[in-house]
Amino acid sequence: MEQQRTRCVAQEDVQQVEEIQHGPFPIEQLQASGIASIDIKKMKDAGLCTVESVVYSPRKELLQIKGISEAKVDKIIEAGIFLSSSKLVPLGFTSASQLHAQRLEIIQITSGSREFDKILEGGIETGSITEIYGEFRSGKTQLCHTLCVTCQLPLDQGGGEGKAMYIDAEGAFRPQRLLQIAERYGLNGADVLDNVAYARAYNTDHQSRLLLEAASMMVETRFALVIVDSATALYRTDFSGRGELSARQMHLAKFLRSLQKLADEFGVAVVITNQVVAQVDGSALFAGPQIKPIGGNIMAHASTTRLALRKGRAEERICKVISSPCLPEAEARFQISAEGVTDVKD
Ligand code: ATP
Ligand code: MG
Repeated sequence: MEQQRTRCVAQEDVQQVEEIQHGPFPIEQLQASGIASIDIKKMKDAGLCTVESVVYSPRKELLQIKGISEAKVDKIIEAGIFLSSSKLVPLGFTSASQLHAQRLEIIQITSGSREFDKILEGGIETGSITEIYGEFRSGKTQLCHTLCVTCQLPLDQGGGEGKAMYIDAEGAFRPQRLLQIAERYGLNGADVLDNVAYARAYNTDHQSRLLLEAASMMVETRFALVIVDSATALYRTDFSGRGELSARQMHLAKFLRSLQKLADEFGVAVVITNQVVAQVDGSALFAGPQIKPIGGNIMAHASTTRLALRKGRAEERICKVISSPCLPEAEARFQISAEGVTDVKD
């Protein structure tokens, strides 16, 4: 009896979730709350393209937008809060059962390998940041290429029915790999390439600026995936030594926060790769050389799910879940082949 009641509540919540209009809502909707179109344009130029982005921004950040006075900022915040009270952009508390119903709707994107998907309990999660680290040749870039194709698949095939965005800091992106992977899934190669927006990042400032453009593109079309390969490479060279460490970490934290914002606003899966360094502390004496991802605590805290890749025999690779809010620390074997990430073919 008790259980039945719980089930009823859950169903009601599912219905409620369905009734709520889904965002993201274009920032132009603030006009209905009396915000002038010229101010909306100023916010758009600063990279705020949705009502969500305004509502989630701290006041301090809105004050930094050129040409918007303090009084206007308060009016904008008020308009945002009004929209939130009309349930358009939820800002307050909700019940765990409603959240549970919402989370059941979260789309997961297949990695290309069934065993790999199994330890992720489905695939790469949309709406959050997944970090993939590992030494060179461990398959980070290959996994990114595979995801660019699988995110375009229909939902019932493990896809996200959306486009992919690829921010390339290392110059390792190869469209011909996408064509090979597209063939495996029976997708039209030309369409697959058209659905991937590519940008090369030249320095850390540029890499951050690209996210502004990303937001404005996401308002126009449905993206399912954003890749940054790698998120940290340019930080290693743009900042040097201990003297610049705190500036580097602050810059990186801001960049990662902007990525998280994209995940929250547009429900995209954010996948970032990370390089590793050999750990040179006392433990190396006993346990042999250990590797650790770079970016320190800032990186560790920003990524919701952390995966470590390492080499196995020949083309075989191993993925381990290092940290996740809901997955156990399991390992899976996969393989890199012409068709991207696949199961190990014994
Ligand atoms: P880095 O840290 O240097 O960026 P990575 O982890 O991104 O390394 P990847 O580029 O993803 O490494 O993986 C490289 C591996 O993928 C190599 O071992 C290479 O042999 C393999 N590989 C690349 N293309 C193919 C292909 N077409 N068929 C089979 N294996 C391939
Ligand atoms: Mg790579």
